[in-house]
This record gives sequence, C-alpha cells and structure tokens, in this order.
Amino acid sequence: MNRGGNASIVSESVAVSTERGLSGDKSPAIQLVGLGKTFGDVVAVDNIDLEIAEGEFFSLLGPSGSGKTTVLRMIAGFELPTAGAVLLHGQDMTRLAPYDRDVNTVFQDYALFPHMSVQRNVEYGLKVKGVGKAERRRRAGEMLEAVHLADFGARRPNEMSGGQRQRVALARALVNRPKVLLLDEPLGALDLKLREEMQVELKNIQRDVGITFVFVTHDQGEALSMSSRVAVFNDGRIEQIGTPHDIYEHPSTAFVAGFVGTSNLLSAAMSQRLLGHFTPHTIRPERIHLVTSARAASDDITVDGVVDDIQYLGSESRARVRLDDGSHLLVSVPSDGLVDVAIGHNVRVAWPRSAAFAVVDSTNQGEKP
Ligand code: ATP
Repeated sequence: MNRGGNASIVSESVAVSTERGLSGDKSPAIQLVGLGKTFGDVVAVDNIDLEIAEGEFFSLLGPSGSGKTTVLRMIAGFELPTAGAVLLHGQDMTRLAPYDRDVNTVFQDYALFPHMSVQRNVEYGLKVKGVGKAERRRRAGEMLEAVHLADFGARRPNEMSGGQRQRVALARALVNRPKVLLLDEPLGALDLKLREEMQVELKNIQRDVGITFVFVTHDQGEALSMSSRVAVFNDGRIEQIGTPHDIYEHPSTAFVAGFVGTSNLLSAAMSQRLLGHFTPHTIRPERIHLVTSARAASDDITVDGVVDDIQYLGSESRARVRLDDGSHLLVSVPSDGLVDVAIGHNVRVAWPRSAAFAVVDSTNQGEKP
C-alpha cells in the first residue's frame, strides 16, 4: 500500500501537550494526544488519546483497516499526523524524522539484507551510527545470543527458517537499544505453531531487555496472551483500553465483545425480557450452561430453546440454542458432555446474573422498549 502523503499539524494541541508531557519526570514512554490522520476523504485515525508507560508490552488490536498501522507509523515518524501530537518520553516528536526518534520498527516482512550475513545484518545500524568494529561485533553478538541465534552469525537470511529470520530482524532492531520498539504484525508470516513459539519468545525477550514494545496485530489471541495492556481499534477510534483480563471479561462495547473472543450479544429488548434492563448486554458462551437435572442455582437466569447447531472445537464444543423469539445463544459444552445434546433437542440454559455485562451498542441506537 502506498503510505505517502502528509498534512498540516494542529500546532495548538502540540504546544499544550508538550507542556503536559514535560511537567513530570515520570512521563509515559509514548503519549498520543488528539491524534488524527486523514487520507483524502478517508479518516484513518480519529482523535486518539493514549498513554503507554515505560516497559509495557502494549498491543494495538483491531480488524483490517481500523487504523492501527497508521498509528504505529505516526509514532515511528513515517507518517505525519493531520491533527494532534506524538510525545516520546515527554518530548514532542510530532515533526521529527524517523531517524531522530529513539524508536525502531520491526516490519512483517523483516526487511533483512539478503546479501549480508546475519551478523552483518545485525551490525548494520551500529555501523551507520559510526560505532567501531570491535564494539559492533560485541553488541551484535550479545543480541544474537539474546534471541537464541548465537551460532547463526555466519549464515545468510535465505539459509534460515521464517522464525529465525524474524528473530534476526528483532536483534537488528534491538541492537541500537531504542527506548521503544514498534512491531507491525511481525508474526503474520509464520505458521500457527511457530507463531505460538515466537509469542512466548517475544514476551521473554521484552521482559529481559525491558524496552517498551508496541505491537500491532489483528489476532486477538496473540494480543491477549502477550500484552500488559491492549487498545482495541474500530474504524479509526479506540473502543477500549485495558489489561487482557479487562478486555476479555468486561468488554465495554458490543464491538469489543464480538471481536475479542466469542460473545453473545443480547439486544436491549432481549435484555429487558431476560434481565430486566433495557440496555444491551453480553455473555460469554462459557458462562452459560445447559441445565441438566437440577443444576441451575436458584438466582440463575434461565431460558428455554432448541439446539439448532453444534460446533465441535476439540476439548469443548459450542451449541447454538434458538430461543422462542428467533434469537440465538451460543453455549459452551465440554465435548465429553455432547452425548446428552443433539440438534433438535429442547434444552434449558442458565447463567449467573454476574455473567452478563451491559455494553454500548452503537449499531442499535434506535431500539425502543
Ligand atoms: P491492516 O491490519 O489491514 O494493516 P490497519 O488497521 O493497520 O489495517 P491502516 O493500514 O492503518 O489499518 O489503514 C486505516 C485506513 O486508512 C484504511 O481505510 C486504509 O485503506 C487507509 N489508508 C492507509 N494508508 C493509506 C494511504 N497511504 N492512502 C490512502 N488511504 C490509506
């Protein structure tokens, strides 16, 4: 995609935010203030405020086109905002070129030099900075050790696996000791197993080096398993910021509930009928159970329906239960309990009151009780 183009910057907000950013010595590693970016008629990023603390593993999570990469590119300096400011450790960086920011980026395609050995690839940034040969050797060697590639220095990138190349790219970015490392879907090209291994490694490396990581992904599992906090993007805006636990257990909007994991969205009318509140609610399938014998607690909410689909997912399965009004609820069932459930069965489902959360549902504003 062509990422060219720039625009004027709203200077008042830069001045205000710089003052704010410099006011204490515990400035966040990254501060985005009223950040916006338009490309012609497309609003890619819409008035974002965000603070990322030093040492965080922070993920920008959202569907394709939601604006996460554009935010990352504005932090890196590859893209100029049309509004707002980017502060790094309290300093206004909005107008600075990428090489004047203490930030490095790891791209999805790694961008390694194919004609150079791994060692020389990792040394390259130091060479550009004029670091002497012996010092370059030493630091690149240390970094290759940190990413478990100490014995691979003499190889060329095309003699390595995807996961190993990914780690070379990481070593090359980290060797400059940036204060912030930006990662743009760096695991996207790896197969599932390797991706899961790299998720664990990335997290360990981040913990070892203690650098702030900002990680762009559309994979909710990846974001939840690695991050200290996550910002969920939708349509150029942030819907929710929180720890993985907050985002999963207490989604604040219908979009977050649907995008992060699987969730049942009860419309306002349905919530009124089942819960007594005319506000949309979400419930995770694993919080709902099928009532066999007398398992529903006395204050559980119960509702009757018919099983009209069963999805086998390995250790657990998901039954889709059609209610009287034609709506559906997804219910997790341990797969070894499937003997009691089949398509066409009349069932009663139940959940504790505390399992349902009120959410904002911007798609259903017009609904009336
Ligand atoms: P993906 O996961 O697919 O990379 P994303 O969430 O990172 O998506 P962005 O790449 O930030 O999304 O794009 C946000 C919006 O801005 C999209 O509608 C995209 O088409 C548009 N956009 C991004 N860069 C440009 C550009 N250089 N010119 C025009 N439109 C652009």
